[in-house]
Amino acid sequence: MTEVFEATAEFARSLDQTDTLYPFRERFLFPQHEGRDARYFCGNSLGLQPKSVSYLMQKELDDWASFGVEGHTQARNPWLFYHHLFSESLGRIVGAEAHEVVAANTLTVNLHLLMLSFYRPSKKRYKIIMEAGAFPSDQYAMETQVKLWGFKPEDAIIEVAPREGEHTIREEDILAQIEAAGSSLSLLLFGGVNYYSGQLFDMKRLSEAAHRVGAYAGFDLAHAVGNVPLQLHDWNVDFACWCSYKYLNSGPGGVGGIFVHSHHGDNPRTFRLAGWWGNEEDTRFQMKKGFYPQRGAASWQMSNAPVFNMVAHRAALDIYDKAGMTELCKKSLRLTAYFEYLLLQLKELPFTIITPRNSNQRGCQLSLLFQERGREVFEALSAKGIIADWREPDVIRMAPVPLYNTFEDVFAVYEAMKELC
Ligand SMILES: *Cc1c(COP(=O)(O)O)cnc(C)c1O
Repeated sequence: MTEVFEATAEFARSLDQTDTLYPFRERFLFPQHEGRDARYFCGNSLGLQPKSVSYLMQKELDDWASFGVEGHTQARNPWLFYHHLFSESLGRIVGAEAHEVVAANTLTVNLHLLMLSFYRPSKKRYKIIMEAGAFPSDQYAMETQVKLWGFKPEDAIIEVAPREGEHTIREEDILAQIEAAGSSLSLLLFGGVNYYSGQLFDMKRLSEAAHRVGAYAGFDLAHAVGNVPLQLHDWNVDFACWCSYKYLNSGPGGVGGIFVHSHHGDNPRTFRLAGWWGNEEDTRFQMKKGFYPQRGAASWQMSNAPVFNMVAHRAALDIYDKAGMTELCKKSLRLTAYFEYLLLQLKELPFTIITPRNSNQRGCQLSLLFQERGREVFEALSAKGIIADWREPDVIRMAPVPLYNTFEDVFAVYEAMKELC
């Protein structure tokens, strides 16, 4: 069912008035522009700060001051078990059992740790399929992992690219590459949502296809977590990792997240690099030889929980718990559809929307590829207090985030673009 929209300020306001998530924007701090809240479209790059963070941070500082080392057990949220506070909420966001997820480490580190568990190539089965133009950190991780095992990236890594003249990758092309690689394929490692185009991939279908040829399937969910509905357990994804500072609003350099399917996480023989925090909790302090991995994703933890870093994550997940992914995704679809509708009302579009037009194949981000004057438009938007994201050489990415963006926000972009284009 497609909704009938109107390109008027009154209509945009009426959508805000009936939006049950509208009050959630009150829970965030906005950058200021000329004395008022900027219109912030960079939640896909760095989410906004929940207002509760400074109070919660002060609480941990106070507990540290009051208890010193005893805070590990005496703090209001004992630091020894601080990471336990995240698994239920993260499980709801990614569609997993609590023990299949953990908040730990950071994204690229987790990518490496998980590849050391799930990319264990042999002479016959050593290939990796990934998306062409993946985020550089992911490319570096895969290239160096391949080299670690003595293979050549040019030989071992198969990149699937959009076809000539197209901007998104056809799923049929990924499936064909999986089939073609067959028993030489060790791992399919894709972004859940591509950071540049905003394309969302069918993770269930890709996982099934990888499993059919005996390979594992893993996903970098940096742009998917907290943005699109995920059912990692039911989809039989083998592993995934993400960062918390984009849609999850947990602050710069925020703690990362790991999903390991219970098939692997419950198996003590699954290889993992070990650190003391991954060991069984009841024997952790016996300081004995021999690593006994605890159950699930928690065994991929290396070190004790970075509490100060995790405070913002807890504050942000409280908001997700209250809003709920179902409601968020419902609003997200509508908000992005309205944004797209408005952009298409512009006469003689100076840009192409390279994000898929089908709402099943995207989250909230729209990427606008400019034929010319892109940088100029980007700067003019900034001057009007509209914060977007510029990607060289010619793309403006904008993410209307359902937790804090409004229908009026996207209308303001339309008005500004109308003037500029
Ligand atoms: C944001 C992002 C990263 C950043 O990695 P960090 O290790 O958190 O610095 C990596 N990969 C993708 C796909 C991203 O979108």
